[in-house]
Formats: sequence, structure tokens, C-alpha cells
Amino acid sequence: MSKHIYLDYNATAPIRPEVADAVNHAMKQPHNASSVHRFGQEGRKLVEDARIKVAALVNAPPAQVIFNSGATEGNNTVLQHFKGERVLVSAIEHPSILEAAPNAEQIPVTKDGLVDLGALEKLLQAEPKPALVSMMMVNNETGAIQPIRNVSNLCKKYGALVHCDGVQAAGKIPIDITELGADFLTLSSHKIGGPQGVGALVLGLCGITPTLLSGGGQEKSARAGTENVAGIAGFGAAAELAVKDLPGYQKLESLRSRLESKLPKGTIIHSSDSPRVAGTSMFSLPGDSSETLLMALDLEGIAISNGSACSSGTIKPSHILQAMGVSDKETASVLRVSMGWDTKEADIDGFLKALGKIMNRIEETKRKEKSAAHA
Ligand code: PMP
Repeated sequence: MSKHIYLDYNATAPIRPEVADAVNHAMKQPHNASSVHRFGQEGRKLVEDARIKVAALVNAPPAQVIFNSGATEGNNTVLQHFKGERVLVSAIEHPSILEAAPNAEQIPVTKDGLVDLGALEKLLQAEPKPALVSMMMVNNETGAIQPIRNVSNLCKKYGALVHCDGVQAAGKIPIDITELGADFLTLSSHKIGGPQGVGALVLGLCGITPTLLSGGGQEKSARAGTENVAGIAGFGAAAELAVKDLPGYQKLESLRSRLESKLPKGTIIHSSDSPRVAGTSMFSLPGDSSETLLMALDLEGIAISNGSACSSGTIKPSHILQAMGVSDKETASVLRVSMGWDTKEADIDGFLKALGKIMNRIEETKRKEKSAAHA
């Protein structure tokens, strides 16, 4: 097998070496950040240093950052708080929003995968007025950047609070929670080269602190449970590097152009007319099933995704593409390439070479089957 090529950063990014060092260092001592002894104090320092770095990632005051186990928890925390009230969510949210708020009304998106602002305004005007609107900043499948400022302006006009899932935006585009007009923002460490199982809920200035877990006084009683000190330290290190490397991330745009310009004729690139983050490309290839391609690519040492969720052994078509009105045929042949801090031109070329080889092989098999049927 050739060298492995990893192009699935939107699922999880490889941990940065500096982050692994920070996690290792923090794990060497028994740090309970609530203990009064010196080990506890060292743990507290690691947590508070990380809080400053994560706050800087979204330009928030550090006191507004609540550490938790990741964005699934952050999203559930916010949505659960508004249970029983009228809530609007975009149709392309992550399942940790959609399933946490099954009664929420969905805001449609355009065929380019951007929130339909006209439809949002109509939903905001209807009575009773919505208490919360949840809209992601960047879509995890297409990479489309949503017009959050426009969304929050509309929400303010009609008195709704705004929750923004910032998971796929962090480290890819600048985030300023105040400028966005977000009241709640969720982040996840493992999408920016940090460890898994740690994230943050960042509070805006609305003065509400949604709380899911109670039982301990950690995080000023906003999130009970012994702090994941090593994970938080790693998240802090990853956040610092993500801020520094923001210009570096933009360079991936040239790799994406290289990729998209060399895809087979007839390939449809989703959200290509929308503003997109530099390192994500989602496309439907003419004809071939993405399941077949993914498996064949994996055998060639290439890790990408098809953007569909796999649960209890059943492959569900992407609800995001369905919301964009993409046909079943195109949805069935979709692939997502997502790049990040360690992606090189050779990775894209390696992917294209393997894809070409696999598609030729499939064509050849089809030709043989066809001629056998006619024989
Ligand atoms: N929101 C979005 C947009 C995501 O892409 C993900 C991760 N797939 C999550 C939320 C959930 O994050 P976590 O893995 O930290 O629970």
C-alpha cells in the first residue's frame, strides 16, 4: 500500500505535535483543578491559560468561555435550555442540533447551501416570536460560510437570541463573537488539531448561562464534572496555533483549485457559488457510488468521506444535500475532501491519481460486463 493520505480534516484533524506535547505534559501530574494543593493549583493554571487562548480564538472575554466535552455537548446545552420555546434551526445543522431540538422549525437553505434569509424573516415574524435561532457558521460538508451577521441582525430585530455552531469555522476564518452578534457559540477542539472529547461553549453578552450538567461547582457551576485538564491544555495549545496559522489555512485555496480543476468531466461541485472555507470541497462524480469509491480509495491508502452519516449500520443520504435540493443520484455519488494544517500538494495529487485509477477500473469492469451481456 502506498503512503497514507489523510483528507478528512472536517471529521477530525490530526493532532498537532505541539498540542500532543502540551497534553503529555499536563497528564504527567495528578491535576484536579479544584484541589487546593500545588498539583491542583498547577492544573488550575493550565485550565486558565487555555481559557485565555480559546477566548482569543473567538475574541471573547476569557470569563465567557465554559469548557465541556465538545460541540455535541455545547449544542445540546444551548438547545435544551430553550426546550418548550419556539426555536428555529437551519435545515443543514449538525445532528447534535437537529436531534437536540426535534420540535424546532427548520429554516430552508438555497441551492448553494446558504441560509434563506427571506424565509428566516418570515419565520421570525410569525407568532409566538422565536426565542432562539441556531445557525452554523460554516457547513461541515460543503464548507459554505453562512451570513451570520445578517442572520443576527434579523434576529435582533425580532427579539430572538442567536446560537452559532462555530465548529467548522474555527481556524479557517476569523471569528469575533461580538461582531457576529452571537449570544452562544460552540467550539470543538479536535477540529482544529486539538484532542477529542473537549470543547467550549462561549457566551455572548445576553446574560444567560445555559447549563446541562449539575452536581459540582466546576466552571462557575455552569458545567459540573472534574475538568479534563490535559484535554483543555491541548485545546488551548491548538487554539493558539489556529489563530497564528489562519493566513496559512487560506493557502489551501490553491490546493482546492488544483483538485477541482482536475476532477473528471461532469463532476458537480457543491456550494461552488457560495463563499467557502479554503480547505473543503464536496463534489458529485458522474455515475459512481460514493460507497464503492470510498472503499476503493481506502484500499489505496486514502482517507476521505462521503459526507453521509452512518448510524446503526444504515447509510443515510446527506440531509444537507437534500436540503439544498440535490438529486438522489448526485447525493449517492458525493465525496468530500477536507484539508488542514498538514495537507500538501502531493496529497491532492495522490488522491487524484488514485481516483483516476479506480474510476478507470470501474469503467473497465462495466465495459466487460456489458460486452458479456451482449455475447
Ligand atoms: N457541529 C459540527 C458542525 C460538526 O462538524 C461537529 C463534528 N462532526 C459537531 C458539531 C460535533 O462536535 P464534537 O465532535 O466535538 O461533539
